[in-house]
Amino acid sequence: MIESERMTETFLTLARIDSPSFEEREIAEHLVAELRALGGDAIMDDAGKAVGGNAGNVFARFAGTGRGPAVLLSAHMDTVSPGRGVRPVRDGQRIRSDGSTILGADDKSGLAIILEVLRTLRERHIPHPPIEVVFTVCEEPGLMGAKALHLSRLSAQDGLVLDSGPASSLFVRGPAADRMEITVHGRAAHAGVCPERGLSAIHIAADAIARMRLGRIDHETTANIGLIEGGTAVNIVPDRVTVRGEARSHDEAKLAAQSDHMVRCFHDAAAARSVRAGKEIMQAEIEAKVTRDYNRMKLGEQAPVVQWVLAAARHTNAPVKCESTGGGCDANIFNSHGLRIANLGTGMREIHTTGEYLLLDEFFQTGRVVLSMLQQAASR
Ligand SMILES: [Zn+2]
Repeated sequence: MIESERMTETFLTLARIDSPSFEEREIAEHLVAELRALGGDAIMDDAGKAVGGNAGNVFARFAGTGRGPAVLLSAHMDTVSPGRGVRPVRDGQRIRSDGSTILGADDKSGLAIILEVLRTLRERHIPHPPIEVVFTVCEEPGLMGAKALHLSRLSAQDGLVLDSGPASSLFVRGPAADRMEITVHGRAAHAGVCPERGLSAIHIAADAIARMRLGRIDHETTANIGLIEGGTAVNIVPDRVTVRGEARSHDEAKLAAQSDHMVRCFHDAAAARSVRAGKEIMQAEIEAKVTRDYNRMKLGEQAPVVQWVLAAARHTNAPVKCESTGGGCDANIFNSHGLRIANLGTGMREIHTTGEYLLLDEFFQTGRVVLSMLQQAASR
């Protein structure tokens, strides 16, 4: 019942609107207008202030025309770079960019599916439960829009985020993540005249990282150092370096152990070096900040949304199964507030690269599954 061609056109229109993180205003206004035209009471919230961007999350409620509890449908509006001036190209059964930018199927394919499903329900007078739509800002830099969303706006307890690759994957489990920022405070000195008076923060950080277990730690735990920043000139022993990294695990105890291990490597590296400053022996100081980025996602097979989607998949002959992911998405944030939200793929591939593309067959399949899911929810 989904009009595939129209859904594709909607996607192409959205792909052509620039919406880098923190600059989602244009697409947000476009979407508010679309949702209102579809009968929703759409608004833009004040998350823009909280995240430092020019737009808030878009929120809309559609009254139910059938039975069933309210259902949340969500996708994010922002894209990674290079994402300005996207020229989508239709290439047989896929849509790609012209090669100079990303496509932005992450996550405009999700936005387009939600709009088409709402349009189909309305045109065909299909009974559906109350639907709440959330289009978030700043998902890419760290789920910032979802974190700033006032959950009190939502009455839905169950629903879907459409923000991953294979349409056959319903992600129901995902890791919790910690972010860390560690600053090494050493001691500056002239690198040629008196290096023995210095304590190189870069050397200590390098030693710490060399001691560290990183990458895939085990089947449910990963860790990464992603950014290093420090030093002022080649002839100055650097007195300060800041290192940023993350750890993720499906298991809380393993996550705590990995985060502790990473911080401990810095303390050990600092303890291994010292410098005499007058009568005192000086060692580098370590300033470590570890913060919870998001909590894990863990839905059981009995969660209502899992039941609805699997029933919809059977009904539409779509091969969908429950899976585990190593990634984080807005669903992690919703679920840490007690909601039960899963993440269904839309057909996007090679995301965050200029080779990104959207597989139309999978895109249409998810459109059909989401439409059928709402009918399933209304019939229970
Ligand atoms: Zn995404």
